[in-house]
Amino acid sequence: MWTIFGQDHILRAIDQAIADGALAHAYLIVGSPHAGKATFARELAQAVNCERAAQPDLRGPCAKCRQCRRIAAGRHADVVTLAVQEEEGHRAILLEQVLPALHLASLRPYEGAWRIFILDGAEFLNQESANSLLKTLEEPPPNVLWLLLATDEERLLPTIRSRCQRLSFRAVAPEAMASALQERWNASPEQATLLARLAQGSLGWAVRALQDPTVLEARARALDRLAELPSASLEQRFAYAAELASLIPRERTAVRDTLDLWATWWRDILHLNVGSLQGIWNQDRLDDLRQQAALFRPSQAAGFVQLILQTEQYLDMNINARLALEHLMLRVPVATPAASTAGRRPD
Ligand SMILES: [Zn+2]
Repeated sequence: MWTIFGQDHILRAIDQAIADGALAHAYLIVGSPHAGKATFARELAQAVNCERAAQPDLRGPCAKCRQCRRIAAGRHADVVTLAVQEEEGHRAILLEQVLPALHLASLRPYEGAWRIFILDGAEFLNQESANSLLKTLEEPPPNVLWLLLATDEERLLPTIRSRCQRLSFRAVAPEAMASALQERWNASPEQATLLARLAQGSLGWAVRALQDPTVLEARARALDRLAELPSASLEQRFAYAAELASLIPRERTAVRDTLDLWATWWRDILHLNVGSLQGIWNQDRLDDLRQQAALFRPSQAAGFVQLILQTEQYLDMNINARLALEHLMLRVPVATPAASTAGRRPD
């Protein structure tokens, strides 16, 4: 059975392709971080190798047979994941990773029916990796499936994109996610409502937060520090920038998550500023948000959201992370209390 949720359009297409024996040889799987792309790729690898795949009523992998279990455990010889490598702040899927994969692709599968290559972060294929992959995608060997997972597909070579069938993950609506969290993962109604709000469409994040209390604790800590930033000294801000930058080699996703969180926070301030309660993500911190909203103009909040998103892009582009984060810290809006608005320059 498939476990990804809210992506029926993808599952229908794949079920049909498996039933018809008409799988593409390469899929570009696009979706936000934590959307479930890697889970789906693993389940697709299981589904095509599953020993019960001939059962017409079974949708997705059985999860029980030897093939399914070996793939779930990461021990299957025919399922290979190429992950982004990081060296001195430079991120890429390297030629030295792609070449052995291309060699393997030319051989018959060792233990299953299909050989699967999962490129997790396909937008980080560097030029030479992409070019050598391209040749294989043009003349695909039989029984080989390439699964290219990407958050930012625009960064992939158009020639690569055009040779893949595109599967795009949709953001799951908060209401549907809250029901799923209660029904499938036994969340309480309160937990489900809060997590579905915070998850921004990414069920994988919500499930992780439900099962691992440190996820919400880390969020609370990050928000506390964020709330302190506008009144922090330059030294404190630079120290925080350095701290975040130092995490990047090992925990890039955590830094990205922190910046995503900042963006939701300042978006919330903006929404409160313009009197819209509807779109508030961080509902559980409404009191803090209201206090801050009184201190900033809508243009300050909007400008800072843009700057955060731009910084995220810089960090993906192998630009000096510490400089980018320091720049961001320097531009944290300065409080302009409503009481002192007289004589203020207009936005
Ligand atoms: Zn199976």
